[in-house]
Amino acid sequence: MVFQWHCRAAHFALLCALLCGCLPARTTGGDVTSTLLIGGSKIDVTIESGEMRLSQAELLHWVQTAAEAVATYYGRYPVPHVEIHIIPVHGTGVRHGQTFGYDGGLIKIRVGKQTQAAELGNDWMLTHEMVHLSFPSMADEHHWIEEGIAVYVEPIARIQARQMSAEQMWADLVRDMQKGLPQDGDRGLDHTHSWGRTYWGGALFCFVADVEIRKQTHNEKGLQDALRGILNGGGDIRHDWELVEAFKMGDGVLAAVRRAITGAQLSKESSSEGILPSAVFAGRSVADFRPRL
Ligand SMILES: [Zn+2]
Repeated sequence: MVFQWHCRAAHFALLCALLCGCLPARTTGGDVTSTLLIGGSKIDVTIESGEMRLSQAELLHWVQTAAEAVATYYGRYPVPHVEIHIIPVHGTGVRHGQTFGYDGGLIKIRVGKQTQAAELGNDWMLTHEMVHLSFPSMADEHHWIEEGIAVYVEPIARIQARQMSAEQMWADLVRDMQKGLPQDGDRGLDHTHSWGRTYWGGALFCFVADVEIRKQTHNEKGLQDALRGILNGGGDIRHDWELVEAFKMGDGVLAAVRRAITGAQLSKESSSEGILPSAVFAGRSVADFRPRL
C-alpha cells in the first residue's frame, strides 16, 4: 500500500512557526495562564497550582507542538479560541484528557508532577484531544465517530508535522486496529459501546473510509479532505450535528472529483444527474460495515 500522508506538511509547519506566538503569563490564585497564538486562533493555557518538575516553558512547548500537528492536518487550528487546563496530579506522564464544546472549547488534561520533558515529546494524548475540536458534537450513539476520528487522525497529524515516523504509525496500526473488530453478539457501532468498538472500531471505520476514498479518486483525495470540508463547513465541536449531516458535508467536498472521474462513463449510460454514485464517505453505513482486514 502506498499512501501520501506528509506531502503538505513542510509548508504548513513553516507557516505555523511564523505565526505562532506567546503572550506574557498571568497568575491568578496560584494558577498561571498564558496565551499561545496559532495562526488566527488563541489558546489560553492555564497551569493549575501545584509543584511540577516541568517548567512552564516546557508545558507551553508541548501545547504548541500538539496545536501545530492539528493545524497542519486541518490547514488551520480548528476553533478560534480554546481553554486548556493543565491539572497537576501525582505520578508521571500525561494521564487523562477530556475535551468539551462549551465556552468555545475546553480541554482538561492531567499531567503527573514528576513528568519530564522527554515524556511530553512522545505524548499523543493532547493531540488526540485537540482533534476532537475539529468535528461537530454527536449524539451518544455516534460517539464512536468522534473517538474514531481522534484515534485515526492523531498519528497522521503528528507525522505530517514531522513529529512522529510513519513506520511507528503503521506498526501501531497493525497492532491495535484489530481491537476494533466486532466480537460475537456485536450490534454495530451505534449500539455496541465497548471501549474497543468505540475507539478502535471508529478508527477502523475511518481507515476503511480513507482507503476507499483514495481508491475511488486514484489517490487524489483522502479522508483528510472530507474532514477539512466538514470543519470548513462549520462543523466543529461547538455545534451539535447529526452524523448524516457531517457525512454529507464531507462527501460534498469529494463530489467534484467523483464527477470528474466517472463523468465520461455516466454520460454514456445516462444523462440523468440523479444516478451519480452514492456517497464515498457515507457509502458504508453503520449497519453494513464489515471490515475486511
Ligand atoms: Zn477522545
